[in-house]
Amino acid sequence: MGAVIGLPLAALVLWLMAASGGLWWLWAWVAWVAFNGLLLVLWPTVIAPLFNRFEPLADEGLAQRVQALMQRCGFAARGLFVMDGSRRSAHANAYFTGLGAAKRVVFYDTLLARLTPGEVEAVLAHELGHFKRRHVLQRMVMIFGASLAGLALLGWLAGQAGFYLGLGVQPNVGTPNDALALILFMLALPPFTFFLAPLGAAVSRRHELEADAFACAQADGRDLARALVKLHEDNAATLTPDPWYVRFHYSHPPAAERLAALPAP
Ligand SMILES: [Zn+2]
Repeated sequence: MGAVIGLPLAALVLWLMAASGGLWWLWAWVAWVAFNGLLLVLWPTVIAPLFNRFEPLADEGLAQRVQALMQRCGFAARGLFVMDGSRRSAHANAYFTGLGAAKRVVFYDTLLARLTPGEVEAVLAHELGHFKRRHVLQRMVMIFGASLAGLALLGWLAGQAGFYLGLGVQPNVGTPNDALALILFMLALPPFTFFLAPLGAAVSRRHELEADAFACAQADGRDLARALVKLHEDNAATLTPDPWYVRFHYSHPPAAERLAALPAP
């Protein structure tokens, strides 16, 4: 998948660098945003079904419960689907996918097998919380903003001889260094973005607690607590992670911290 999607994208960026002059990085960013928009439309309907089977949710009682929850929250989705996640692992999850009115709700079969209907509703209410508190939008703005800044930086660096020489590479004189600049940038970037990781993780952890609070308001918080305990058992994650490791890498607060903010199950 990486080669099928990545190589044409890399070719497009190289072509833009050669063809669109000094503002190539802006065009590359527009192409990147358009590509992500396309992926958002194609993912649920074309790409995901290549790897998993999706079937409409057959459980009438649960479907009614979920519809009622979505109505309470003022959320419109076009269909409820069950995905055969058990095909690859015991990992259990539920998510929304798609754009606008074409949004669909997907439950892993592993989630439905493990949780009671009330717990499934609470988990879904948590996911709804991410939408209603605009976390998804904030995240997209953050990611697209960061990629625009990164591309603008590359656009500037590509014209600086010091960028190449500083990394021990002799640039071509009088001919374009596009591919060279792109490769050097990708090699040199990770040590710098490493120190930005805690920022993204901190925002994400705050969003998780907000989504939990939303779920408590729209569904039964005790159900959410029970579901969290079950899912943690299955995911076999540590219960006592190192606080510094959490600060740096955890996109979700540790289970104990989330449970402390919920009513006792
Ligand atoms: Zn979440």
